[in-house]
Amino acid sequence: MAVRFDAAARRAIDLAMTEVENRNHATLDSIHLLLGLLQTPDSAVARACTVLGVSSQAVHQEALSYLKVGQGSGSMLTVEIAGIAEDILQRASILSIERGGDVVTDLDIFIALAERDDTSANRLLRKVGLTAAKLTGAQTAAALLTTAPSAGRPDQASASARNSPMAAASITTTRVGIGYDSHRFAEGGPLVLGGIAIPGDTHLAGHSDGDAIAHALTDAILGAAALGDIGEMFSDTDPANRGRHSLEMLAAGVARARAAGWMVQQVDVVVVTEALRIAPHRAAMAAALAGALGVEISAVSIKGKTNEGMGWIGRGEGIACMAVATLVAAVRGAA
Ligand code: MG
Repeated sequence: MAVRFDAAARRAIDLAMTEVENRNHATLDSIHLLLGLLQTPDSAVARACTVLGVSSQAVHQEALSYLKVGQGSGSMLTVEIAGIAEDILQRASILSIERGGDVVTDLDIFIALAERDDTSANRLLRKVGLTAAKLTGAQTAAALLTTAPSAGRPDQASASARNSPMAAASITTTRVGIGYDSHRFAEGGPLVLGGIAIPGDTHLAGHSDGDAIAHALTDAILGAAALGDIGEMFSDTDPANRGRHSLEMLAAGVARARAAGWMVQQVDVVVVTEALRIAPHRAAMAAALAGALGVEISAVSIKGKTNEGMGWIGRGEGIACMAVATLVAAVRGAA
Protein backbone atom coordinates (compact mmCIF):
# COMPACT_ATOMS: atom_id res chain seq x y z
CA MET A 1 0.00 0.00 0.00
CA ALA A 2 1.69 3.20 -1.18
CA VAL A 3 0.39 5.88 1.13
CA ARG A 4 1.87 9.27 1.92
CA PHE A 5 1.64 10.96 5.29
CA ASP A 6 1.11 14.71 5.25
CA ALA A 7 3.46 17.12 6.99
CA ALA A 8 1.40 17.26 10.20
CA ALA A 9 1.22 13.46 10.42
CA ARG A 10 4.97 13.12 9.88
CA ARG A 11 5.64 15.80 12.44
CA ALA A 12 3.41 13.98 14.96
CA ILE A 13 5.24 10.67 14.38
CA ASP A 14 8.58 12.45 14.71
CA LEU A 15 7.49 14.06 17.99
CA ALA A 16 6.20 10.70 19.25
CA MET A 17 9.60 9.14 18.55
CA THR A 18 11.26 12.01 20.40
CA GLU A 19 9.00 11.29 23.41
CA VAL A 20 10.19 7.66 23.37
CA GLU A 21 13.84 8.60 23.03
CA ASN A 22 13.76 11.32 25.68
CA ARG A 23 12.15 8.95 28.19
CA ASN A 24 14.39 6.00 27.29
CA HIS A 25 11.32 3.87 26.65
CA ALA A 26 11.77 0.63 24.75
CA THR A 27 8.82 0.88 22.37
CA LEU A 28 6.61 3.44 20.70
CA ASP A 29 3.20 3.02 22.35
CA SER A 30 -0.17 4.66 21.78
CA ILE A 31 0.44 7.23 24.51
CA HIS A 32 3.59 8.48 22.73
CA LEU A 33 1.62 8.79 19.50
CA LEU A 34 -1.06 10.72 21.39
CA LEU A 35 1.55 13.09 22.85
CA GLY A 36 3.01 13.61 19.37
CA LEU A 37 -0.40 14.34 17.90
CA LEU A 38 -1.34 16.94 20.53
CA GLN A 39 1.74 19.13 20.36
CA THR A 40 0.96 21.21 17.27
CA PRO A 41 -1.54 24.01 18.02
CA ASP A 42 -2.81 24.51 14.46
CA SER A 43 -3.01 20.87 13.37
CA ALA A 44 -6.11 19.06 12.09
CA VAL A 45 -6.23 17.25 15.45
CA ALA A 46 -6.27 20.53 17.36
CA ARG A 47 -9.00 21.91 15.07
CA ALA A 48 -11.14 18.77 15.49
CA CYS A 49 -10.78 19.07 19.26
CA THR A 50 -11.87 22.72 19.02
CA VAL A 51 -14.92 21.74 16.96
CA LEU A 52 -15.85 19.19 19.65
CA GLY A 53 -15.31 21.72 22.46
CA VAL A 54 -12.27 19.95 23.92
CA SER A 55 -8.95 21.67 24.61
CA SER A 56 -6.16 19.70 22.91
CA GLN A 57 -3.66 21.29 25.30
CA ALA A 58 -5.65 20.00 28.29
CA VAL A 59 -5.70 16.49 26.79
CA HIS A 60 -1.95 16.78 26.23
CA GLN A 61 -1.41 17.68 29.89
CA GLU A 62 -3.55 14.74 30.97
CA ALA A 63 -1.63 12.38 28.68
CA LEU A 64 1.60 13.51 30.35
CA SER A 65 0.11 12.68 33.76
CA TYR A 66 -0.97 9.24 32.48
CA LEU A 67 2.62 8.59 31.56
CA LYS A 68 3.86 9.63 35.00
CA VAL A 69 1.23 7.65 36.89
CA GLY A 70 1.74 4.67 34.64
CA GLN A 71 5.48 4.64 35.19
CA GLY A 72 5.07 4.88 38.91
CA SER A 73 2.30 2.44 39.69
CA GLY A 74 1.45 0.68 36.45
CA SER A 75 -2.21 1.27 37.29
CA MET A 76 -3.14 3.61 34.46
CA LEU A 77 -0.73 2.80 31.66
CA THR A 78 -1.49 -0.32 29.69
CA VAL A 79 1.62 -2.29 28.75
CA GLU A 80 1.46 -2.46 24.99
CA ILE A 81 3.01 -4.66 22.37
CA ALA A 82 5.69 -3.18 20.13
CA GLY A 83 3.57 -3.48 17.00
CA ILE A 84 0.65 -1.39 18.25
CA ALA A 85 1.86 1.91 16.78
CA GLU A 86 2.39 0.17 13.46
CA ASP A 87 -1.17 -1.21 13.56
CA ILE A 88 -2.52 2.25 14.30
CA LEU A 89 -0.57 3.84 11.43
CA GLN A 90 -1.79 1.12 9.06
CA ARG A 91 -5.37 1.67 10.20
CA ALA A 92 -4.89 5.43 9.64
CA SER A 93 -3.79 4.66 6.07
CA ILE A 94 -6.98 2.68 5.50
CA LEU A 95 -9.10 5.47 7.01
CA SER A 96 -7.53 8.00 4.63
CA ILE A 97 -8.35 5.77 1.64
CA GLU A 98 -11.90 5.18 2.88
CA ARG A 99 -12.55 8.92 3.07
CA GLY A 100 -11.06 9.38 -0.41
CA GLY A 101 -8.00 11.32 0.74
CA ASP A 102 -4.69 11.25 -1.09
CA VAL A 103 -2.60 11.64 2.09
CA VAL A 104 -2.83 10.35 5.66
CA THR A 105 -3.41 13.27 8.04
CA ASP A 106 -2.64 13.61 11.72
CA LEU A 107 -6.42 13.44 12.27
CA ASP A 108 -6.56 10.03 10.52
CA ILE A 109 -4.00 8.76 13.04
CA PHE A 110 -5.95 10.37 15.89
CA ILE A 111 -9.17 8.65 14.78
CA ALA A 112 -7.33 5.32 14.46
CA LEU A 113 -6.15 5.81 18.06
CA ALA A 114 -9.72 6.56 19.16
CA GLU A 115 -10.95 3.38 17.46
CA ARG A 116 -8.43 1.14 19.18
CA ASP A 117 -10.08 0.37 22.50
CA ASP A 118 -7.24 -1.62 24.14
CA THR A 119 -4.75 1.22 24.61
CA SER A 120 -3.94 3.78 27.28
CA ALA A 121 -4.38 6.60 24.76
CA ASN A 122 -7.85 5.33 23.91
CA ARG A 123 -8.87 5.23 27.56
CA LEU A 124 -7.90 8.88 27.91
CA LEU A 125 -9.69 9.92 24.70
CA ARG A 126 -12.90 8.20 25.85
CA LYS A 127 -12.62 9.91 29.22
CA VAL A 128 -12.61 13.35 27.59
CA GLY A 129 -15.38 12.36 25.18
CA LEU A 130 -13.29 12.09 22.00
CA THR A 131 -14.76 9.01 20.33
CA ALA A 132 -13.90 7.83 16.82
CA ALA A 133 -17.46 8.58 15.69
CA LYS A 134 -17.39 12.16 17.00
CA LEU A 135 -13.94 12.79 15.56
CA THR A 136 -14.99 11.44 12.17
CA GLY A 137 -17.98 13.77 12.31
CA ALA A 138 -15.71 16.70 13.18
CA GLN A 139 -13.35 15.87 10.34
CA THR A 140 -15.19 17.88 7.68
CA ALA A 141 -15.62 20.88 9.95
CA ALA A 142 -11.94 20.70 10.93
CA ALA A 143 -10.97 20.67 7.25
CA LEU A 144 -13.15 23.74 6.62
CA LEU A 145 -11.33 25.56 9.38
CA THR A 146 -7.96 24.89 7.74
CA THR A 147 -5.72 27.89 7.90
CA ALA A 148 -2.26 26.36 7.77
CA PRO A 149 -1.12 26.26 4.14
CA SER A 150 1.27 23.37 4.84
CA ALA A 151 -1.24 21.10 6.58
CA GLY A 152 -2.01 18.95 3.55
CA ARG A 153 1.39 18.93 1.90
CA PRO A 154 3.49 15.81 2.20
CA ASP A 155 6.79 17.44 1.29
CA GLN A 156 7.54 19.47 4.39
CA ALA A 157 8.44 16.77 6.89
CA SER A 158 11.64 17.22 8.85
CA ALA A 159 14.68 15.32 7.61
CA SER A 160 14.69 13.06 10.66
CA ALA A 161 11.04 12.11 10.17
CA ARG A 162 11.68 11.31 6.52
CA ASN A 163 14.67 9.12 7.27
CA SER A 164 13.38 7.13 10.24
CA PRO A 165 11.96 3.65 9.55
CA MET A 166 8.84 4.39 11.60
CA ALA A 167 8.07 7.52 9.58
CA ALA A 168 8.79 5.43 6.50
CA ALA A 169 5.48 3.81 7.43
CA SER A 170 4.36 5.82 4.41
CA ILE A 171 6.23 3.19 2.37
CA THR A 172 6.68 0.14 4.61
CA THR A 173 7.39 -0.83 8.20
CA THR A 174 8.16 -4.47 7.43
CA ARG A 175 11.07 -5.96 5.48
CA VAL A 176 11.63 -9.53 4.33
CA GLY A 177 15.04 -11.05 3.59
CA ILE A 178 16.14 -14.40 2.18
CA GLY A 179 19.31 -16.35 2.93
CA TYR A 180 20.86 -19.55 1.62
CA ASP A 181 23.87 -21.58 2.69
CA SER A 182 25.36 -25.02 2.06
CA HIS A 183 28.20 -26.93 3.68
CA ARG A 184 29.90 -30.20 2.91
CA PHE A 185 30.02 -33.04 5.46
CA ALA A 186 33.47 -34.00 6.79
CA GLU A 187 34.65 -36.68 9.16
CA GLY A 188 34.62 -36.16 12.90
CA GLY A 189 31.89 -34.84 15.17
CA PRO A 190 30.17 -33.07 16.64
CA LEU A 191 28.01 -31.44 13.99
CA VAL A 192 27.15 -27.81 14.79
CA LEU A 193 23.78 -26.81 13.31
CA GLY A 194 21.11 -24.37 14.43
CA GLY A 195 23.35 -23.23 17.28
CA ILE A 196 23.62 -26.65 18.93
CA ALA A 197 26.26 -29.40 18.83
CA ILE A 198 24.87 -32.75 17.66
CA PRO A 199 26.99 -35.75 18.69
CA GLY A 200 28.10 -38.10 15.91
CA ASP A 201 30.99 -38.85 13.57
CA THR A 202 30.50 -36.05 11.01
CA HIS A 203 30.60 -32.26 11.04
CA LEU A 204 30.02 -29.51 8.52
CA ALA A 205 33.29 -28.35 6.95
CA GLY A 206 33.88 -24.62 6.96
CA HIS A 207 36.14 -21.79 8.02
CA SER A 208 33.83 -21.17 10.97
CA ASP A 209 31.92 -23.94 12.78
CA GLY A 210 29.98 -24.58 9.54
CA ASP A 211 26.54 -23.85 10.99
CA ALA A 212 24.59 -23.49 7.75
CA ILE A 213 21.32 -22.57 9.52
CA ALA A 214 22.95 -19.68 11.39
CA HIS A 215 24.70 -18.52 8.21
CA ALA A 216 21.50 -18.59 6.12
CA LEU A 217 19.67 -16.71 8.88
CA THR A 218 22.40 -14.08 9.14
CA ASP A 219 22.14 -13.45 5.39
CA ALA A 220 18.33 -13.29 5.58
CA ILE A 221 18.53 -10.59 8.27
CA LEU A 222 21.27 -8.59 6.56
CA GLY A 223 19.33 -8.97 3.31
CA ALA A 224 16.08 -7.67 4.81
CA ALA A 225 17.92 -4.61 6.10
CA ALA A 226 19.89 -4.27 2.83
CA LEU A 227 23.13 -4.28 4.83
CA GLY A 228 25.33 -6.60 2.80
CA ASP A 229 26.01 -10.25 3.61
CA ILE A 230 27.77 -12.54 6.04
CA GLY A 231 30.84 -12.97 3.82
CA GLU A 232 31.40 -9.24 3.87
CA MET A 233 31.00 -9.06 7.67
CA PHE A 234 33.12 -12.14 8.41
CA SER A 235 35.65 -12.83 5.65
CA ASP A 236 36.59 -16.54 5.35
CA THR A 237 40.19 -15.49 4.64
CA ASP A 238 40.51 -13.65 7.95
CA PRO A 239 42.24 -15.88 10.54
CA ALA A 240 40.20 -14.14 13.26
CA ASN A 241 37.10 -15.87 11.88
CA ARG A 242 38.56 -19.37 11.97
CA GLY A 243 36.35 -21.63 14.08
CA ARG A 244 34.20 -18.63 15.02
CA HIS A 245 30.88 -19.49 16.65
CA SER A 246 28.14 -18.89 14.13
CA LEU A 247 25.65 -17.78 16.79
CA GLU A 248 28.06 -14.94 17.51
CA MET A 249 28.00 -14.03 13.81
CA LEU A 250 24.20 -14.21 13.80
CA ALA A 251 23.97 -11.94 16.85
CA ALA A 252 26.36 -9.50 15.15
CA GLY A 253 24.09 -9.44 12.07
CA VAL A 254 21.07 -8.78 14.31
CA ALA A 255 22.99 -5.96 16.04
CA ARG A 256 23.92 -4.41 12.69
CA ALA A 257 20.27 -4.44 11.60
CA ARG A 258 19.24 -3.07 14.98
CA ALA A 259 21.71 -0.18 14.68
CA ALA A 260 20.05 0.68 11.37
CA GLY A 261 16.62 0.78 13.04
CA TRP A 262 15.33 -2.76 12.37
CA MET A 263 14.41 -5.55 14.74
CA VAL A 264 13.74 -9.21 13.93
CA GLN A 265 10.09 -10.24 14.10
CA GLN A 266 10.21 -13.88 13.02
CA VAL A 267 12.27 -16.34 10.97
CA ASP A 268 11.53 -19.50 9.02
CA VAL A 269 14.17 -22.04 7.99
CA VAL A 270 14.20 -25.06 5.69
CA VAL A 271 17.04 -27.58 6.11
CA VAL A 272 17.51 -29.97 3.20
CA THR A 273 19.43 -33.12 4.17
CA GLU A 274 19.20 -36.90 3.99
CA ALA A 275 21.78 -37.44 6.70
CA LEU A 276 20.01 -36.01 9.71
CA ARG A 277 16.48 -35.78 11.12
CA ILE A 278 15.71 -32.23 12.22
CA ALA A 279 12.58 -32.89 14.30
CA PRO A 280 14.37 -34.32 17.38
CA HIS A 281 16.61 -31.22 17.52
CA ARG A 282 14.05 -28.58 16.56
CA ALA A 283 13.23 -27.33 20.07
CA ALA A 284 16.88 -27.02 21.13
CA MET A 285 17.80 -25.28 17.87
CA ALA A 286 14.89 -22.84 18.17
CA ALA A 287 15.90 -21.96 21.73
CA ALA A 288 19.54 -21.38 20.76
CA LEU A 289 18.66 -19.31 17.70
CA ALA A 290 15.97 -17.28 19.53
CA GLY A 291 18.61 -16.14 22.01
CA ALA A 292 20.89 -14.84 19.25
CA LEU A 293 17.99 -13.32 17.33
CA GLY A 294 16.47 -11.60 20.36
CA VAL A 295 13.00 -13.07 19.72
CA GLU A 296 10.63 -15.45 21.47
CA ILE A 297 11.18 -19.15 20.72
CA SER A 298 7.74 -19.20 19.12
CA ALA A 299 9.04 -16.77 16.47
CA VAL A 300 11.60 -19.32 15.21
CA SER A 301 10.47 -22.02 12.76
CA ILE A 302 12.78 -24.81 11.52
CA LYS A 303 11.66 -27.43 9.05
CA GLY A 304 13.54 -30.47 7.75
CA LYS A 305 13.23 -31.84 4.19
CA THR A 306 14.92 -34.63 2.25
CA ASN A 307 15.92 -34.21 -1.40
CA GLU A 308 14.20 -37.46 -2.41
CA GLY A 309 17.61 -39.06 -2.88
CA MET A 310 18.56 -36.74 -5.72
CA GLY A 311 21.86 -35.01 -6.41
CA TRP A 312 24.61 -34.11 -3.94
CA ILE A 313 22.18 -33.79 -1.06
CA GLY A 314 20.68 -37.18 -1.96
CA ARG A 315 24.17 -38.71 -1.93
CA GLY A 316 24.67 -37.28 1.55
CA GLU A 317 27.58 -35.05 0.53
CA GLY A 318 26.32 -31.99 2.37
CA ILE A 319 23.49 -29.93 3.71
CA ALA A 320 21.58 -26.93 2.31
CA CYS A 321 19.61 -24.34 4.28
CA MET A 322 17.19 -21.63 3.23
CA ALA A 323 15.95 -18.93 5.57
CA VAL A 324 13.47 -16.08 5.50
CA ALA A 325 13.46 -13.29 8.09
CA THR A 326 10.94 -10.53 8.74
CA LEU A 327 12.20 -7.27 10.22
CA VAL A 328 10.08 -4.44 11.58
CA ALA A 329 10.99 -0.83 12.20
CA ALA A 330 12.50 -0.41 15.67
CA VAL A 331 12.64 2.76 17.67
CA ARG A 332 16.12 4.21 17.26
CA GLY A 333 18.28 4.04 20.33
CA ALA A 334 15.94 1.68 22.19
CA ALA A 335 17.55 -1.06 24.27
MG1 MG B 1 28.33 -20.93 5.54
